[in-house]
Amino acid sequence: MTLSEQKKGLIKICHSIHSKGMVSGSGGNVSIMVDGGILITASGVSLESAAEDNIVFVDHQERFSGPIRPSKETMLHLRCYAARSDIKAVVHVHSVYSVALSCMRFAQESSIVPAYTPGYGIRVGKLPVIPYFCPGSEELAMAVSSSIAERDSVLMRNHGLVAVGRSLDEALNLAEEIEENAKIHFILNGMGTCLTDAQIEELHANYH
Ligand SMILES: [Zn+2]
Repeated sequence: MTLSEQKKGLIKICHSIHSKGMVSGSGGNVSIMVDGGILITASGVSLESAAEDNIVFVDHQERFSGPIRPSKETMLHLRCYAARSDIKAVVHVHSVYSVALSCMRFAQESSIVPAYTPGYGIRVGKLPVIPYFCPGSEELAMAVSSSIAERDSVLMRNHGLVAVGRSLDEALNLAEEIEENAKIHFILNGMGTCLTDAQIEELHANYH
């Protein structure tokens, strides 16, 4: 696949994320792995406006050329790829229910979001919430990538979620699954029951 085709694929996913209402304003950022580095969305540009002239190539040392600056979370993306050689795409969104969940008071600083459905149980399982760090900071990049080293998704306190995959579609599907589970959490309003650890382990034993 050529770089231009890879850009087109990335732009398509950006527009899809925006049309699904998973970001607002210039929030969220998306990248894919390409030869020698990554293609990533631009800083301060809405995903709705993603286009060939505002997708930025950044190498593994975080260098880029040209007037368009890459997303301020570029380090976070690069660290995720460095932590996992099998992933090809990183999606970061501020979808409303996931952000709301990330702002809730949990019993501990490092908490787990409950899983309500088997689909979520198998694809996400026990979603960790990492502590709050300033967006764009090295601390956030490190905290996210150390979670991503072990699993495909993580919730960032008072911020949003990161999902990774072997393709853009896979990463976006995961982000949507997390958003849906977060919505279910609020619809249940404390009246639901979530899957138990044993039920999640059974899912993994049967489907992995
Ligand atoms: Zn963000």
